[in-house]
Amino acid sequence: MNKFWERFFYALTFISQGASFLNPRAYAIMHRMHHSYSDTEKDPHSPHFFKDVWQMTMETKNIYLNYAKFRIEPEKAFRGSYPEWPLVDKISDMWAVRILFALFYIIFYIKFASALWMFILLPVHFFMGPVHGAIVNWCGHKYGYASYDNNDFSKNTVPIDIFLMGELMQNNHHKSPNNINFAKKWYEFDPAFFIIILMNTIGIIKIRKL
Ligand SMILES: [Zn+2]
Repeated sequence: MNKFWERFFYALTFISQGASFLNPRAYAIMHRMHHSYSDTEKDPHSPHFFKDVWQMTMETKNIYLNYAKFRIEPEKAFRGSYPEWPLVDKISDMWAVRILFALFYIIFYIKFASALWMFILLPVHFFMGPVHGAIVNWCGHKYGYASYDNNDFSKNTVPIDIFLMGELMQNNHHKSPNNINFAKKWYEFDPAFFIIILMNTIGIIKIRKL
């Protein structure tokens, strides 16, 4: 995508992830590490090295912060070719901004929630980014079936992957990481694939290779 759309989606991601915005550069570095070292000790978030999902998430957070705060340099192979917007990174990471987003969610609930029990869902909004990451990283390498032997524990967590826009078809994704369609079998469905095709059709992105 061109610079305009890159900035547009960077800003849109900030607005929609809000309180739990994750820095794209640090995210990209961790994701590349995950693919290179899938389910080995150098994998930043393999469920097979932690006793529970909480412990894995806390360790992932530490590794993420090392890159987000430039505390350690990533390996050379994992650098470059990611969007960077230092101003948004700085604003999004301010405690005042994260708390303002959280307050906005609370006010939204006060205004629109129709039952008291709904408020127990609030933490999901506060930590949407990490919650999503924890589900994908834990379940996608633990539960489901494997269509391919990728030399790791990646699984296709079908059918609940539909709630995560197809991202839980980790076994397919690790088999062919550059394939924009995570679905392989007739009963698998990757909603994000059709969004990518739509964005390509209307000219927001240009698919390099189908
Ligand atoms: Zn994976």
